[in-house]
Amino acid sequence: MSETITRLAPSPTGALHLGNARTFLLNHLLARRNGWRVLMRIEDLDSPRVRAGSAEDTLDDLSWLGLEWEEPPVYQSRRTDAYQAALKKLVAAGLAYPCLCSRKDIELAAGAPHRDETRGTYPGTCRGRFADEAQARAASPRPPAWRAIVDDVEITFEDRFAGKQRFNLSVEGGDFVVFRSHGLAAYQLAVTVDDAESGVNAIVRADDLLDSAARQIHLRRLLNLPPEVEYWHVPLVEGEDGRRLAKRHGDTRLSYYRRRGASAERMLGLLGYWCGLLERRREASMDELIGRFDISLVPKEPVVFTRADDEYLLKS
Ligand code: GLU
Repeated sequence: MSETITRLAPSPTGALHLGNARTFLLNHLLARRNGWRVLMRIEDLDSPRVRAGSAEDTLDDLSWLGLEWEEPPVYQSRRTDAYQAALKKLVAAGLAYPCLCSRKDIELAAGAPHRDETRGTYPGTCRGRFADEAQARAASPRPPAWRAIVDDVEITFEDRFAGKQRFNLSVEGGDFVVFRSHGLAAYQLAVTVDDAESGVNAIVRADDLLDSAARQIHLRRLLNLPPEVEYWHVPLVEGEDGRRLAKRHGDTRLSYYRRRGASAERMLGLLGYWCGLLERRREASMDELIGRFDISLVPKEPVVFTRADDEYLLKS
């Protein structure tokens, strides 16, 4: 059987919090139990939100927790040429086109002023509108973004954790952005190109990215990239209000607990408890969690971060 390769792909847009850490730990445990190779990729394309030094902080937090990877990290911000080559290929095949729509235009066209672009479906305003890039550039002082075309077909896949998935991207988002107007690749294209190029065939991440998996499968087909990827999309960690863990739930960054003296074993104990591997919160080593790991123990529902979790971490 060929080698299984996975990747840890943090976005350094803020320091790593307990929710991200749990997902990365699950990825690591699956990899260690099954003998997969683990790569590290820093997803630092979201320039306005990426803070200087935060990639290093994230890597430091993950190492502190006991996660390991086998090669130096790949930084997406240094891979523009590869993304441009993929865009060129799509454009040459008539599978991507320039788009001058602003977020506002799309909202107005969709008649849904309060929806954000990722939830509204792009109405296709610029599909077939310009013969080529030069025409789009002549039509506006703003440089165009680029969208990949989406056909009216269902994308189905069997997620190894979340089960059978079915998406019709033409009604769930429509033609999507693969390159942004300021010249950076968009998330879907960058991830697809990187995963394919590094031979990643096992992807473990949070289940808010399930519909992105459908877009990435679609892009793989458009770019003729190898299709053999298995997915594990795991539930998010939420606050007691049922919303995904974020700043509104207080400071839940690993760095915050580290500064207050929590050890990696204490942190692993909470995350291991959240993964269904320990009956209660208590200190645990990475080796113990690897030994106990069984994906069927991992809860199918979102984990809820409670005051008791916070108190446990601060009790050290
Ligand atoms: N960078 C994303 C995150 O930190 C993960 C994207 C992916 O795994 O494809 O949530």
